[in-house]
Parts: sequence; C-alpha cells; structure tokens
Amino acid sequence: EEEDRIIEFERPKVSFNDVGGMEKVKEEIRLKIIHPLEHPEIYKAYGKKIGGGILLYGPPGCGKTHLARATAGQIKSNFMAVGINEILDMWLGQSEKNLHAIFQKARQIKPCVLFFDEVDALGANRSDMRMSAGRHLINQFLNELDGIEQSNDGVLVLAATNAPWHLDPAFRRPGRFDRIIFVPPPDEAGRTAILEIHLRDKPVKDVDYLKIAQKTPGFSGADLEAVIDIAIEGKMEESMRKGIPLPIETNDLLKAVGKHRATTTEW
Ligand code: ATP
Repeated sequence: EEEDRIIEFERPKVSFNDVGGMEKVKEEIRLKIIHPLEHPEIYKAYGKKIGGGILLYGPPGCGKTHLARATAGQIKSNFMAVGINEILDMWLGQSEKNLHAIFQKARQIKPCVLFFDEVDALGANRSDMRMSAGRHLINQFLNELDGIEQSNDGVLVLAATNAPWHLDPAFRRPGRFDRIIFVPPPDEAGRTAILEIHLRDKPVKDVDYLKIAQKTPGFSGADLEAVIDIAIEGKMEESMRKGIPLPIETNDLLKAVGKHRATTTEW
C-alpha cells in the first residue's frame, strides 16, 4: 500500500547557533518564517499575509540543508527533507501521489519545516525519460504549495537548488516561492564561525581559527568539515600510538588544509 510507505521526519537538535555566518540569511528567515509562526495575531492585525515558501540557492555544500534543518530546530518543529530526484527515481510513475502523501504527512505533524532539495529537477526542461510526466508533477507541486484543498497552516516550505534558472517561473509567483535567498560560500568570518562550531566539542588547544579561515578561501562548510576530519584522523593515529587523546592544534588543521581542494570560489 502506497499510503503505508514510511515518510521519515525528525526533531532536529541543531539550531541557528550551529550555523556559522549567514547572518543576513538567518534574518530573512526570521522575518518570513519564524515571526509569522510565533506572532500570527500581529501579522493578521496589520493585514500581512502569512505563507509562501523560501527558495535557497547557491553552490553545493554551503549549508542550505543544514540551514533548513536548523530553522526547524530554532522553532522546535518537525523537519522533513525530501530530495526531488529521490521522488522521481524511487517512485517512478507514482510521483504525484507520493508528493501529495509527503505534504499530507507534513500537515499531520505540524508545525513542520518541509524541505525540498534539488527542486529544479521538477521544473527542468529536460528530455529525460523520467520527466515525461513533468508538467503534471509541477502542477501537483504547485497545488500542494498553494494549499487550496488542504491548508498549509503550520507547514513551512523551504526549497533548495544549485540552478534557480532551471526552475519553472510559475514557482516564483506571489504566495509560492516569492522569496529567493542566495546562500553564498562562507566568507572569512563565516569560515571562522564554521570551524569553531565543528570543533566545539572536540579536544583542541590554542587553535587560531582566523588563521585557518584566512588560508581557506573558496572552502565551503562541507570542505571545512572535510579538513577537520583529515586533521582528526591524523591526530587519532598519533594518539593511539601514545595511548592518550591529544588535542588538535593549529598546525594539524593547516596541514589538513593542504590535503583538501576547495570546491567553490569566493564571490
Ligand atoms: P547541496 O547543494 O550539496 O545539498 P547544501 O548547501 O545543502 O549542499 P549542506 O548539506 O547543508 O549543504 O552542508 C554540508 C555540510 O557542511 C553540513 O552537514 C554542515 O555540517 C556543513 N556546513 C555547511 N555550511 C555550514 C555553516 N554555515 N555552518 C555550519 N556548518 C555548515
């Protein structure tokens, strides 16, 4: 039975404190999503419309998914992450029905942040075989998003894409994804914050975070995570030889930087 398919959701433990940099992006999300949810009566009093989604775009690994999850954590809501390509691949021929099931699930477990990754895959004008039913799927998605048959009250829709120009213009109408936010590669301050966040609960000694940040232009959040992983691996080997956990130091991280290539370029 399709309806019995398990649609996974979570209650995230991360919040905005776990997202480095992105101050402007966080502020937009507060205004558009968090404030309306926490103070609906004030929005109503001034005749401000609530609803509509936010489209995040930017290069891979720069924290779109992480930010969406942290948004849910920030408002203590549930979180569902759905890859559009996943829907297309796994549910060949059933995509529309399952898209509906996903929205229904989110409405059931509200408040819920419903996050769609790779959303451009929906509106792509591709000749892919699997996209032969593309128009139907887009219409289904837009109907669900408009919430005409069933209200989306308490369901906050975020979507991400690396290629906003592939997206069908119908997505951008008022009340749909009327806010588009660029999530850039982290700047120096952002990289410093990301490094601090990811080393927060690890054994460290006198780490010069700014120095590492200065040596890592073009590194995404995911790249910085990889650098930390490389440093930790080296440190663990050394620790096992010596029989005690040794703290990570600036030099360990600098060495690790040399072993990883940046995946973005500074904007
Ligand atoms: P994709 O387009 O590939 O889906 P994305 O923009 O969604 O990429 P994420 O998956 O959110 O990127 O980021 C990858 C990992 O990098 C995250 O799990 C997170 O730990 C880390 N990361 C990225 N940006 C940040 C940030 N600003 N603060 C803290 N961690 C970050």
